[in-house]
Amino acid sequence: MADGLKRVAVIGGGWAGMAAAVALAEKGLPVTVFEAARQLGGRARRAAIHGLPLDNGPHLLLGAYRESLRLMARVHPGPLPLKRIPLRLDVPGHFRLSLPRLPAPLHLAWGLLAAQGLTWQERLAAARFVRWLKRRQFRLGQDASVESLLRGHGQDGGLRRHLWEPLCLAALNTPIALASAQVFLHVLRDSLAAERAASDMLLPLADFSALFPEPAAAYVRRQGGEVRLSCPVRHIRRQNSGLALATDGGEESFGQVICAVPPQRLPSLTAELPELAETRKMVAGFHYQPIYSLYLQYPEDRRLPAPLLGLDGGLGQWVFDRGQTHGQKGLMAVVISGPGRHEILDHEALLDAVAWELAPLLGQQRPLWGKVVAERRATFSCEAGLQRPSIATPLANFHLAGDYTEGDYPATLEGAARSGIACAARITG
Ligand SMILES: Cc1cc2nc3c(=O)[nH]c(=O)nc-3n(C[C@H](O)[C@H](O)[C@H](O)COP(=O)(O)OP(=O)(O)OC[C@H]3O[C@@H](n4cnc5c(N)ncnc54)[C@H](O)[C@@H]3O)c2cc1C
Repeated sequence: MADGLKRVAVIGGGWAGMAAAVALAEKGLPVTVFEAARQLGGRARRAAIHGLPLDNGPHLLLGAYRESLRLMARVHPGPLPLKRIPLRLDVPGHFRLSLPRLPAPLHLAWGLLAAQGLTWQERLAAARFVRWLKRRQFRLGQDASVESLLRGHGQDGGLRRHLWEPLCLAALNTPIALASAQVFLHVLRDSLAAERAASDMLLPLADFSALFPEPAAAYVRRQGGEVRLSCPVRHIRRQNSGLALATDGGEESFGQVICAVPPQRLPSLTAELPELAETRKMVAGFHYQPIYSLYLQYPEDRRLPAPLLGLDGGLGQWVFDRGQTHGQKGLMAVVISGPGRHEILDHEALLDAVAWELAPLLGQQRPLWGKVVAERRATFSCEAGLQRPSIATPLANFHLAGDYTEGDYPATLEGAARSGIACAARITG
């Protein structure tokens, strides 16, 4: 076999690409990772803001993120920089659901029945709905929108507003009127309805490049692989039985390629591969949803009653207190998932509006400074009935990894990691 044909390339150093690279390195296969940006992490990366190491947006992991956690443990020398807390949805003054440290399924039953901010009828309706889902093993005969599923099962009023709608938006980043009920049920099955630890929230204690992609790169290099930054692949073409990748430094041959770029980048990158025509058509039909992250710095003595709180009735949806996780005292990170009024406000007006919403929690009207990070195409819109491309393509040595590929999960770190691992398994057998 020519030397080039033994080589494996991964294009894209986000969570999918780095998961693939680690999974290959674990099996002793040296790999070359090409990353276009100056840093690893893709949509979950460190961003320097106001001189601080922040993230492009605060992220939350769940205990159910089995594969991401396994790979993180593989590449981290010490304990994982994550704070594990039992699931708690707390919207001060409106709603509270916390899952106690009881064995499953008691933790969920107890949590629902003891939820504050719901009527007794609503608590019982939620428990009935979960029982129905379990009987059906969280499978629907046909996909529908989350909204129609909820309507069909009497999940209205406070249940919809405080529980299902925020959970759906947080997990699928898609409004309930469009969101895929089946994908939402996969998330519920693996988190709320699985063993108790699967529903735990894992709050990062480090920035997102340091949490996985950077230690993953160090691991890949130790295993004989290579990670090249600021090295975009411009196009790919077939070359005998291998594939040639063109970068600004020239062309290189590989026997196997895992393409882990976001779906928007796929069409131009694969334009010279006619075998990918169907995949290109499929992703051309995707819609995308935004996520806005607002950082607001208050005096160091300002602190929330918990590291993560829900917000109700305004623009902000969740607020993270980075003082309690990253030691950045007084710094709040507010998340707004999905479309909405916030998209038409200029950043100053948006910061003012959200500062107003936070004032009762922090006892202070104006932050010292604020910054909006708008990811307008944060994730694909995870809509009912959406067809997603398989990781396998008609080219036996070209594989697709990424949060958008076919799988149980919406666009999440875990979905990305699983797709990368599955691509690696196709190569290592
Ligand atoms: C603000 C925000 C908040 C989020 N919150 C959460 C959360 O709380 N929990 C959760 O689980 N998920 C969350 N997500 C989703 C999660 O971040 C993504 O699903 C995941 O990071 C996608 O990883 P990926 O590797 O598939 O793609 P990407 O992260 O997009 O990685 C693709 C990589 O390919 C590189 N690339 C592109 N073109 C080329 C090229 N030609 N050559 C070489 N490299 C190239 C890019 O630079 C990038 O690094 C959030 C996303 C955003 C944006």
